[in-house]
Amino acid sequence: MQTLTAVVPVYNEAEVLDAFHARLTAALAGLDLDCRVLYVDDGSDEPCAVRLRELAHEHDNVGLLVLSRNFGKEVAISAGLDHAEGDAVILIDADLQDPPELIATFVEQWRAGYDVVYGQRTERRGDSRLKRATAAVYYRVLNALSEVEIPQDVGDFRLLSRRAVDALNALPERHRYMKGLYAWIGFSQAAVPYVREARASGSSKWSYWRLWNFAMEGITSFSTLPLKVATYLGMLVSSLSFMYGLYMLVKTLIWGNPVPGYPSLIVIVLFLGGVQLMCLGVIGEYLARTYTESKGRVLYLTREYHPPRD
Ligand code: UDP
Ligand code: MG
Repeated sequence: MQTLTAVVPVYNEAEVLDAFHARLTAALAGLDLDCRVLYVDDGSDEPCAVRLRELAHEHDNVGLLVLSRNFGKEVAISAGLDHAEGDAVILIDADLQDPPELIATFVEQWRAGYDVVYGQRTERRGDSRLKRATAAVYYRVLNALSEVEIPQDVGDFRLLSRRAVDALNALPERHRYMKGLYAWIGFSQAAVPYVREARASGSSKWSYWRLWNFAMEGITSFSTLPLKVATYLGMLVSSLSFMYGLYMLVKTLIWGNPVPGYPSLIVIVLFLGGVQLMCLGVIGEYLARTYTESKGRVLYLTREYHPPRD
């Protein structure tokens, strides 16, 4: 029989964990596949960590990978993918925002030949209007800049075939912008629409600051266009200043210069200063990423690993 592993990153989800596990197991039981669950404990604190260990102990088909500290969801997923066995892997959040019942549809599409089957949110319950509006703008900018098309309203909730998982695992980068990487690997991909529920309990770990950094990550990982923008902006500004300089020269020669142009001077100096700082900032963002990549540090450290037993 073909096997399927559900990889679940967990960070302090003690309140929903049992409800989640029950729903996931029920959904998996309905499939004619040999199913396992691999929880990735991303540095959760006491109650959640203890409950995960109990779950892995009680059920043979439940495995547990404990990371040495909190590394963030993206890295937790990468760690889970590294350890997940089976012909297909499901990625699902533990907060019940991704309905486990949808997995059956994912599996159908996978059997129909797709390597990546992802859930696409048609409605974002529990997200504020501001969050929705910023997300829409962000995707437009990201897709205008990046070489691969990154679908909107798509999260990590998806099924990956064995070869898609192997492809992701083979990517060496430490800056793991998963949304981009899923798109980058290609293969045949299918979308399954669903309604994303509000969190069952607890709160999202994404503050606006974290989201902003995540957005920057996406753009700098999948596009070098901002670096070119810096160059072109520099060219544009300097040619404009050159023309303005010529104009001033001709003007002074013809009419003389009765009043020195202090206001225009200060405006130009400030404007150029701003442009220069911005360009330096853009270069700095890329440089910082080159720096972290060049350190060649491992992506995560494992504290314990209990694979699912057969
Ligand atoms: N998560 C994680 N590490 C983190 C933050 C979150 O493993 O540092 C897990 C979390 O337990 C949940 C999933 O990632 O299973 C999604 O997290 P969250 O609900 O905070 O994100 P959102 O749904 O708002 O995108
Ligand atoms: Mg969530």
